[in-house]
Amino acid sequence: MTQITSPDAENSDPHSDIIYPSAIPFVLVHLACLAAIWTGIGWEAVTIGVGLYWLRIFAIGAGYHRYFSHRAYETSRVFQFVLAFLAQTTTQKSVLWWAAKHRQHHLFSDTPQDVHSPRHTGIFYSHLGWIFSRRHDHADLTKIADFAAFPELMWLHRYEQAPAILLAIACFLADGWQGLVIGFFWSTVAVYHATFSINSIAHLSGKQRYVTGDDSRNNWFLALFTMGEGWHNNHHAFQSSVRQGFRWWEYDPTYYLLSALRLTGVVWNLKSPPIEVVENRRQLGSRVVRRAAEQVAGRFNAERIAHAAASVLGAERLAQLHARFIRAQERAADVLRDLNLPEIPGESEIRGCARAMLAASPSFEDIAAKAHQLVLDAIGARLTLLAAQAAGAA
Ligand SMILES: [Zn+2]
Ligand SMILES: [Zn+2]
Repeated sequence: MTQITSPDAENSDPHSDIIYPSAIPFVLVHLACLAAIWTGIGWEAVTIGVGLYWLRIFAIGAGYHRYFSHRAYETSRVFQFVLAFLAQTTTQKSVLWWAAKHRQHHLFSDTPQDVHSPRHTGIFYSHLGWIFSRRHDHADLTKIADFAAFPELMWLHRYEQAPAILLAIACFLADGWQGLVIGFFWSTVAVYHATFSINSIAHLSGKQRYVTGDDSRNNWFLALFTMGEGWHNNHHAFQSSVRQGFRWWEYDPTYYLLSALRLTGVVWNLKSPPIEVVENRRQLGSRVVRRAAEQVAGRFNAERIAHAAASVLGAERLAQLHARFIRAQERAADVLRDLNLPEIPGESEIRGCARAMLAASPSFEDIAAKAHQLVLDAIGARLTLLAAQAAGAA
């Protein structure tokens, strides 16, 4: 079996699309951390930095992600603004931009249209390069129309850096240059990379409990410093759940804090995943089945298999096969299934591959059957081409 990488239909080299000037402030925030050489490191500033790290990781998980992107709970207009303001102190662009891009991520997760898939663009681009891409510069507000209707959120969208500037000034007033450098810049950089690691590492490393048709993974280590966002495969399996740690031992402080806020009446209608989803008993939707089948089929190199099959068949039998494809109006897959050629992968080989690649799922049979169909269709299409070429050459 040879793995074939899917071509990026939209842009074969997304890295060439990066607008470097827009990355300058981001680089400067990193460089500002080095100013600690001159300011020194004091306990007060470290305390501010640690406090701001956890407060803003919560604002990202509970705000940008679970509320604005997924509407996993409800809250008042005032607390909605507080969450948006706090989240934007991280300088990760406006809440409307963030949530619009994140909704697009789930819609096209790990396909070429995904905004940040390490499968197609590599770890560096999925971690941070995509943010500076021309394609992702502007938010498509139609994808976030439910929140773009609030003028105060549109104000934050227009002045997206205002919350961060105000927080930086507050840090300076509280503890001088140390407060600014350690308290604000160090924690901002740490929050950047903790957040970005969910887009990059949580689609590369960890366990897949559920078949989600993408590469999302549960990574306990990421969960530790993102307040529960590391249970990313759970999250992709049921996106609107406010809880991302589905098992009792899956540490999810963002959920614990939101549950505490529910007791005080600040948030309400927290959404939970149905028990069949948690216990992996629910049949998957057709989109997930198709994407998982495409993942399995991608492991079989149709080009190479078709060439091997054509050379075994010989010109005459290949021409007969071609005629059968046309005459019988059968799917090429059905014709190939009857051929019993050892070069063409059979059902058991494809099932074995699917079992090795994917998590257990009640939709396993559907995925394996669909993958088999896709592999045979791809081989049939190439054999047709080879037959046509052979006929042309004769
Ligand atoms: Zn994801
Ligand atoms: Zn999400």
